[in-house]
Amino acid sequence: MKEKILIIEDEEDLVKGLKLNLADEGYEVGWASNGEDGLRKALEGAHDLIILDIMLPKMNGLDICRELRQKNISIPIIMLTAKGEEIDKVVGLEIGADDYMTKPFSIRELLARIKAHLRREKREEKSEGKKVPKIYRFGDVKIDFAHFKVRHKGKELDLTSLEAEILKYFISHQGEVVTRRALLDKIWGYEKYPTTRTIDNHILKLRKKIEGDPSHPKSILSVYGEGYRFVG
Ligand code: CA
Repeated sequence: MKEKILIIEDEEDLVKGLKLNLADEGYEVGWASNGEDGLRKALEGAHDLIILDIMLPKMNGLDICRELRQKNISIPIIMLTAKGEEIDKVVGLEIGADDYMTKPFSIRELLARIKAHLRREKREEKSEGKKVPKIYRFGDVKIDFAHFKVRHKGKELDLTSLEAEILKYFISHQGEVVTRRALLDKIWGYEKYPTTRTIDNHILKLRKKIEGDPSHPKSILSVYGEGYRFVG
């Protein structure tokens, strides 16, 4: 099945060139020439990657990207920026794009990055089973799995890779009881044998980063004698 790419861009000449090149590479290409149409098409959800311009009629690309991430839509997004536009916030927590290219850019370079993002996406889907978005929000917590950051109450904290793995596992099993045994198997692996106390200590640290009151957790609940339940 052909992979589908959505271009949200108002410069028709640029779009023409992109469409030709992407079709040549075997992609199916959709196009929206203004921000509102672009967001609507992106929300229809039939695409594998989005190329998103920042300066657009009706709604700008930053707002589109932010809105998609707020809805926990994790599709790879490559932003197109003009020189001088603020790009430091584009990739990361603030906006949540995966990558950006500054105009004028080489089509070859863009194609290479598209391929890399689609490949990574497939790999992650395979390894995680149910996909966890790179930016995930619940309550007033925002997690950036790509950069191992958590933002909570205006503070940005680092996540260890282990904590990120635990959170991903919780999120992909939201509402279910996650036993300590399951965490041992899935996160630490069969070869290593941490004690249940090790697991509980990690959960304690995690709660300090994401719970309003870690001693009365509202997101990672304890299930007596079993383990935990993540309720988001
Ligand atoms: Ca534009």
